Amino acid sequence: MIVALKPKTPEEKRDDLIQWFKEMGLEVHVSVGKFQTILGLVGDTTKIDMDLIDSLDIVDSVKQITESFKCCNRKFHPDDTIVRVGDVKIGGGNFCMIAGPCSVENEDQIVTIAKAVKEAGADVLRGGAFKPRTSPYDFQGLKGEGIELLKIARAETGLPIVSEIMSVADLPLFEDVDILQVGARNMQNFDLLKELGSTNKPVLLKRGLANSLKELLMSAEYIMASGNEQVILCERGIRTFSDYTRNTLDLSAVPMLHELSHLPVIVDPSHATGLARLVPPMAMAATAGLADGLIIEVHNDPPHALCDGAQSLRPEEYAKLSKKILAIRAIVSE
Ligand code: PEP
Ligand code: MN
Repeated sequence: MIVALKPKTPEEKRDDLIQWFKEMGLEVHVSVGKFQTILGLVGDTTKIDMDLIDSLDIVDSVKQITESFKCCNRKFHPDDTIVRVGDVKIGGGNFCMIAGPCSVENEDQIVTIAKAVKEAGADVLRGGAFKPRTSPYDFQGLKGEGIELLKIARAETGLPIVSEIMSVADLPLFEDVDILQVGARNMQNFDLLKELGSTNKPVLLKRGLANSLKELLMSAEYIMASGNEQVILCERGIRTFSDYTRNTLDLSAVPMLHELSHLPVIVDPSHATGLARLVPPMAMAATAGLADGLIIEVHNDPPHALCDGAQSLRPEEYAKLSKKILAIRAIVSE
């Protein structure tokens, strides 16, 4: 860490600060320039509160030199991570199509959709059993029963299943779920992330509604630092001043995350736009932008869906889109 002191800092104050750093177990290299003194701190600076140091009246600026995220950092792990779920691979040149309804509603619905998306080429079935709804009066999901129905759909189709977990307390219900999804609203539920870090299941980590890429990576770091390296990052749109779409799809996040991290990055054009008609163009753009996969909401009867019907594709629309996605993928992965 580099701490630049303000010009004309009294020596006494400078020495007090140096002494304080030394008491924290750090080596301090002092470089006295004509106008400014620079302190180079060597050692474990992770416990140092950068904001606190920055706020001192003698400090001009503070810069972290060591990387704040290590496990997910490409610098320390140049090869792409490939997340594996049965025969399905995500990342490292393997494109993954995840599709299914926002929420599991009943057996007929989930099995019908599972069969349709499988037929269209999907690799993984999605379906929410625990739903994070803005209003407590909206459908909250079938919970444990929803997970059981997903398992039936998996048995019927062979598709692995992904479902959102909102609380550590529900973990036992997810024992037989293939991929655990952490939704946007829980991206910084650190207790949940740490707990998922001690499981051996892949985690699909969605970017929070108002979170930076650094914060997303730090959340992945929570999971990985606790021992689980199977993390899939997901860009699902962020809050901006968009007025006609549910969120703003930050597509530049995909190549940027690839640069910063070795983890696979997928895109959710459904929650990003909130409108079914915008899903195909954004899904195609994400594929062209080198995403490692897509998670798309598909419903057999969107007008009657219990959640997110407006952004759900019908199975035939999904099938049509899948063909285009595969064609684009073939071009960009050449
Ligand atoms: C979902 O995938 O159903 C969902 C709620 O997504 P997000 O957390 O991105 O809003
Ligand atoms: Mn949804």
